[in-house]
Amino acid sequence: MSISKRVSLVSSSPTLKISAKAKQMKQKGIDVVSFGAGEPDFDTPAHIKESAKKALDEGFTKYTPASGIKELKEAICKKFREDNNLIFSPEEILVSCGAKHSIFNAIFALCDEGDEVVLPSPYWVSFPEMIKVAGGKPVILKTTQEDSFRIKPEQLQKAITPRTKLFILNSPCNPTGMVYTKDELQLLSNVLIASNVYCISDEIYEKIIYDGEEHVSIASLGERIKELTVVVNGVSKSYSMTGWRIGYAGGPEEIISAMSNLQSHSTSNPVSFAQTAALEALSGPQDQVMEMVDEFRRRRDYIIDRLNETPGISCLKPKGAFYAFANVSEILKKGALKDSVSLAEKLLAEANVAVVPGSAFGDDRYIRLSYATSLENIKEGMERIKGFIEKVL
Ligand SMILES: *Cc1c(COP(=O)(O)O)cnc(C)c1O
Repeated sequence: MSISKRVSLVSSSPTLKISAKAKQMKQKGIDVVSFGAGEPDFDTPAHIKESAKKALDEGFTKYTPASGIKELKEAICKKFREDNNLIFSPEEILVSCGAKHSIFNAIFALCDEGDEVVLPSPYWVSFPEMIKVAGGKPVILKTTQEDSFRIKPEQLQKAITPRTKLFILNSPCNPTGMVYTKDELQLLSNVLIASNVYCISDEIYEKIIYDGEEHVSIASLGERIKELTVVVNGVSKSYSMTGWRIGYAGGPEEIISAMSNLQSHSTSNPVSFAQTAALEALSGPQDQVMEMVDEFRRRRDYIIDRLNETPGISCLKPKGAFYAFANVSEILKKGALKDSVSLAEKLLAEANVAVVPGSAFGDDRYIRLSYATSLENIKEGMERIKGFIEKVL
């Protein structure tokens, strides 16, 4: 067998290995508590499902324009205007098969062989792999817990070389839950503008944000940064619609049209009636989003307290998204477990708790726990983790 060099570069993620194992155990009837989920545990709101059913019944089952239907693009423009203070025309919008697909298209539209892409770590698992498969070179900028996992403008400045094409920003961040303030974004944007570096701003967790924290889109900070930025968002996380596969991008027309062109030769349009559902999600009632965020907040408060009470673990309080990124370096230092993968494997095998090892996100001293699961599960899972840690410490 001879797999292309390009695709051979893509690593299969350790995330998948552990979640496959957890699934196997569940199938065997073992009661596993899973903190692995990368998606909300709520059902898609009924009015959204209804709109898709109606579209199906009305025969909206054929190809649509490859870059998405006009009505949805207009609703996205309205959303950008009202929520983010960003003015886009429909020609500056692309609807894709998930935000992931928009990001993939954007990286391919911008990266040439050997181009450097600056990526802060901890990062979302797919970023480095997408950069590599596009021929780019990920330049990882490590952030620390002391800096609340946020890069400083000087750090960004230092990482930029004549080969730097692109910077990837994800606020609120998966896995750390950290959120950049407007002032911080302004400083980062100054650095990008000065060196003419493009930016992909992944804002998928925009609405899952706590404690009065404000989400600001870097593209909204001025005309020049807007010309350099592709803003990516989608309905998966805010509306509990991960399976529907609708995401979107707003950006300069030239980049968006290159992305659309690429999309038109790969997937063509996102599913017709899922686009109708996304239109309803964006333009229908928003109260269920708030309810979901309230529930996530309750769970966050609980799990963060429990984690910080557990010997050997420390965890910052996330300001957005639905993950706790817990520092387990004290436990690893004891020597019985060599890294985050062995910790996660042992935790699964001995305590029946599934977590994602931090190495998947570029920092081996951590584990990620998703609190997109019931408070009851979180309580049970934390009891088990505590018992396990007491044994290994
Ligand atoms: C879930 C997620 C996405 C992808 O969302 P889809 O719209 O379902 O493709 C993108 N970025 C981050 C950081 C995510 O966690």
